[in-house]
Amino acid sequence: MLYLDYAATTPVRPEVQQEMANYFAAQFANPHSPHDAGLAAKAEVEGARRRIATVLGIWPRQIVFTSGGTEANNLAVFGLARAARKNGKRVLTTAIEHKSVLSPIEALTREGFNADLLPVDSYGTVDLAGIDNKLTADTLLIALAHANNEIGTIQPISKIAGLIRDKSRGKKIYLHCDAVQSFGKIPVQFAALGVDTLTISGHKIYGPKGIGVLIIAPGVRLEPLMFGGDQERGLRPGTLNVPAVMGLAKAVELAAAELDRESSRQNVLCKLALRELLQLEGVYLNGHPDNRLPNNINLGIKGIEGQVLVAEMAARGIAVSAGSACSSGSVEPSHVLLGIGQSREQAYECLRITIGRDTSRSDMEQFIAAFATVKQNLAGRFLT
Ligand SMILES: *Cc1c(COP(=O)(O)O)cnc(C)c1O
Repeated sequence: MLYLDYAATTPVRPEVQQEMANYFAAQFANPHSPHDAGLAAKAEVEGARRRIATVLGIWPRQIVFTSGGTEANNLAVFGLARAARKNGKRVLTTAIEHKSVLSPIEALTREGFNADLLPVDSYGTVDLAGIDNKLTADTLLIALAHANNEIGTIQPISKIAGLIRDKSRGKKIYLHCDAVQSFGKIPVQFAALGVDTLTISGHKIYGPKGIGVLIIAPGVRLEPLMFGGDQERGLRPGTLNVPAVMGLAKAVELAAAELDRESSRQNVLCKLALRELLQLEGVYLNGHPDNRLPNNINLGIKGIEGQVLVAEMAARGIAVSAGSACSSGSVEPSHVLLGIGQSREQAYECLRITIGRDTSRSDMEQFIAAFATVKQNLAGRFLT
């Protein structure tokens, strides 16, 4: 199989597997136990927390381990809104966010909050000029992804954070950032982004599934989603998944160490591929031409449904996607493409290719050749 769906998930890299292996049976103690084995496990977990903190330029106590990106986004949205409900009732986001941000916000509207959308342009970039008149006195929270998981567009988060500070007239408006897709592909420094909370997920960066972190700025208060023990300072009760925590720390360190090299290598591969792909008739690029993730190609293909292309490519042993892993399989068109102003018909006609550490130049050539053939075969059947 030629796997070109790294935005959906990544393999656990060998160094991470090796790091985790010790913590399943050899060093299995509960890090919250007071005996020696427990204290040793706790020391390992706190070491992992420090390693992640160093990479992100934060204090270790700013990190809350969660079960993944979805839980971290839920904790941020519900936790900030409920803790600061005296500040207002209005939550802002965009139409193109990941469902793990959109759905919690929709749920908040059923407990008395209201939601509104910040405008985005046809590339999926937040319209900076459109922010000001959305910032009513009632606004308490804004939630945005650092980079879009379908079309790869990168948001100018630090600029948006600065704008919010300038325009909020002295009032605190919280900013949550979903950095699940951006971390490991572009620089992510918590303080430089100027956000209040930030999400990272293990399995998008060659770490294990089922682990993520929410990073919280000093002094920012959240209400927990769950209640139990006082682990993670009461913000996330439950026994920590020690192997996953250790694996995540390793994955974060390696991602940071390889960031420059891998990003530019993958960017070159995508740029070369795009040059050929965009010469095919009826093929265009979704998302921003320059401000995009170095590993993401999202194609629009006039007259051909993405699902059909995905199936045809799968028959040739190539794993690609039409939209996100969560929305593909559903008959609805991509909410992201609809959100950037495409018609329902157009929003069906897309193919996402996301590459990773293991993708070579010859892999890309194989994909381009297969895509050109498949498109040629299908065009006669679908083009009107
Ligand atoms: C994958 C993803 C998530 C969800 O992370 P999980 O760890 O799979 O729950 C959230 N946001 C974005 C942008 C993602 O790509």
